[in-house]
Amino acid sequence: MIKEDNPELQATPQRPPEAPVGVPFADFNLPPELLQGLHDSGYERCTLIQEKAIPLGLAGKDVAGEAQTGTGKTAAFLVPIFDRLAREKDRRPGGPSVLIISPTRELALQIMQDAEDIGRHLDLKMLAVFGGVDYRKQAEALRDGVDLVAATPGRLIDYMKQGIFDPRGVKYLVIDEADRLFDMGFVDDLRWVLRRLPKYQQRQSMLFSATLGWRVSEITYEFMNLPTRVSVVPNTKTVSQVTQEMYHCSATEKLNLLLGLLKKEDWSRVMIFTNTKRVVDMLTFKLKAHGLPAEGISGDLTQPKRMALMEQFKKGKLKILVATNVAARGLHIEDVSHVINFDVPADPEDYVHRIGRTARAGAVGKAITLCCDEYATHLPYVEEYLAAKIPVVFADEDMFLPDDTPNYRRPYRPAREGRDGQRGRDGRSGGRGGGGRPRSGDKPASRSRSRRPRKSGGA
Ligand code: AMP
Repeated sequence: MIKEDNPELQATPQRPPEAPVGVPFADFNLPPELLQGLHDSGYERCTLIQEKAIPLGLAGKDVAGEAQTGTGKTAAFLVPIFDRLAREKDRRPGGPSVLIISPTRELALQIMQDAEDIGRHLDLKMLAVFGGVDYRKQAEALRDGVDLVAATPGRLIDYMKQGIFDPRGVKYLVIDEADRLFDMGFVDDLRWVLRRLPKYQQRQSMLFSATLGWRVSEITYEFMNLPTRVSVVPNTKTVSQVTQEMYHCSATEKLNLLLGLLKKEDWSRVMIFTNTKRVVDMLTFKLKAHGLPAEGISGDLTQPKRMALMEQFKKGKLKILVATNVAARGLHIEDVSHVINFDVPADPEDYVHRIGRTARAGAVGKAITLCCDEYATHLPYVEEYLAAKIPVVFADEDMFLPDDTPNYRRPYRPAREGRDGQRGRDGRSGGRGGGGRPRSGDKPASRSRSRRPRKSGGA
């Protein structure tokens, strides 16, 4: 199972896990080109998970890390791997030696971005492999030879079955957000891939997960080489620098209160989360009608459009992004000053992931939740999960701004062929498998895994 021989590594952290104030990277005896890449990317000192995991990784050990996105876990696995690659003098890109498995396209892209940043002086060929776009382009890049692949399971399996991705050369394996891979129904896919890799004694494996429960532990037992567990689970489950506030109001007044908040709050970049795609569309329409710089993303949007909007938001060209949970996980968008939960989410973990979009890597941020009659039943479960009450703020009458813009009417949308409006390569809609199981990025706006009754669709 997981080795737990170092009790110090289990201790609850004394400092915020996302603060980069620990051991300097310069203390690790890293190759100069890697150190330079870290420096150029603004990494000088370790976050807690980096401080714990990097020495183990550098020593060639398998690591099972319990850490949320936002704690710096990506560099925690990239640094030891890059250290090795930088020292392999006769290395040539081929069947990749590094495979990083991620549950979503967004996370795969984010990992790729961090890898390109940190590894900028290493002369590595790196590729993100995921569904929805560029089937042929990704295949050609794989055939040409790459060093590192960050992949979602669906497209990876497709390429493995076609003989385009050769798993035999994998020397470093990372399973990122393992619990999320399980939540999204990827466990069989993950096992299928892992069974085809070189044996665990012949590779170094690292796994990261927000929680290391029994499901994840089972994978570590079966497919890893006695990994050492490192944990940086914060005292509270939320990012410590997020100020949380909650307003109670009726469902019919929520838009008016949101308009008031956007007037009152000193925001620079805002993410607004809703439980349904319909409300994403409605809010985007209304905010625009009030002259606010908003765009919406939901699972319905094609991948290229979604990526383009994310990019605009990241660069600060777009100031307000309205989204369902699909955008809540695995994204690193700097300087989001405010997260607004227009709806209390059905799944408590989604609350934590949503508000984790602000106050990243030591910054401060604010998360405001609007609790209405429609979704108030979700609140006790969120607060139970947080083991804390969200502080309630009362809104004065003048916080509710009038809305005299035209009514939102849902546009007619013809039924689509498959996801992203494309047919799968094999002619079936929806690409590989065609079954009803969720794949990366396909998560419905509101999950059905929850332990309690909930209102359907709505809003
Ligand atoms: P992660 O948990 O790996 O998704 O990291 C979140 C973000 O924190 C990354 O995209 C980096 O921009 C930032 N970050 C991580 N580690 C450090 C560090 N040691 N110093 C500065 N920024 C960091």
